[in-house]
Amino acid sequence: MSAVSAAPSASAPTLDPSALRHDWSRAEVRALFDLPFPELLHRAGQVHRETFDPAEIQVSTLLSIKTGGCPEDCGYCPQAARYHTGVEATKLMSTEAVIEKARQAKAAGASRFCMGAAWRSPKDRDIPKVAAMITEVKAMGLETCATLGMLSGTQAQALREAGLDYYNHNLDTAPEFYNQIIHTREMQDRLDTLSHVRDVGMKTCCGGIVGMGESREQRAGLLQTLANLPAHPDSVPINRLVQVEGTPLAGAEQLDPFEFVRTVAVARILMPRSMVRLSAGREAMSDELQALCFLAGANSIFYGEKLLTTGNPDTERDMALFARLGLRPMQVTQQGTTVHAEIVEQIDGDPSSSSFRSATPTCAA
Ligand code: SF4
Repeated sequence: MSAVSAAPSASAPTLDPSALRHDWSRAEVRALFDLPFPELLHRAGQVHRETFDPAEIQVSTLLSIKTGGCPEDCGYCPQAARYHTGVEATKLMSTEAVIEKARQAKAAGASRFCMGAAWRSPKDRDIPKVAAMITEVKAMGLETCATLGMLSGTQAQALREAGLDYYNHNLDTAPEFYNQIIHTREMQDRLDTLSHVRDVGMKTCCGGIVGMGESREQRAGLLQTLANLPAHPDSVPINRLVQVEGTPLAGAEQLDPFEFVRTVAVARILMPRSMVRLSAGREAMSDELQALCFLAGANSIFYGEKLLTTGNPDTERDMALFARLGLRPMQVTQQGTTVHAEIVEQIDGDPSSSSFRSATPTCAA
């Protein structure tokens, strides 16, 4: 287990659950991390209840429209071409194939369809192809989401005009730890893409990965950076590293599960109206750990049996866990301007249907 740092050096800030702050200091965030575990979960639960029904969990799926062969060197990623992980590179799916997947997702109750491609950034010639997918999916009455890597302002505008509602682009880790994980682009590149996305009026999905050998201080740094963005991301995926043989982070020290829960709780407190999502790494979590995460304010999961190259819990297990905990999928509603429900799978639907099995890119592009 990775070590956690010593005792708090500052008092945890007094919370106003209705406040949306963008000026969190590192000391404040660190003081929240350092709270006694029951106190931290209590505070996170209070904040959660201000905006959300804690019995509701948003359930989302993504479709990988282009897998593997990525030129980047993200140390956790099996889709990087330079690592020998057994992931086969595929070409961009045809629009027809994507539409068929979207149709199946809609038939299963989806309201949003997310498309992911393992690119450093899309080439300009790719944009019309993806735009066509977006327009077709949008015409079906679905919300649209994409994760395609870095975007220029022009590309963001083109995707927006095609009907794209949400864009996923993660920060991955704290600014001071970033260069130990990724060397082929800078944190500022990510911030620039997020800026382009916001500037054209799209909503953002942005989070990070923990368990990559970072310290508690650095986990605080990731969340501080996310919370101090000009707008809180609408969705904040908190990924727990899935170690894949062949990647540089295979064999990294395992993160204490309670430290993962603390990260979720602090994310909930800092970004009170965002969806805090359990994403990659959920398959390896016990039911008890997932339940603690829900207590800590997580209210979104990826649902399906594959996270592209890493597993995701069987839908049957998810359904059973929801039933045991008295949870239900969040219905499609808007709560204010920053909270949106994503794909809501029918919990009583057919778990063998393809929409339940759609792949979810772990790309944190
Ligand atoms: S995380 Fe995304 S950008 Fe990084 S190597 Fe993987 S596919 Fe490429």
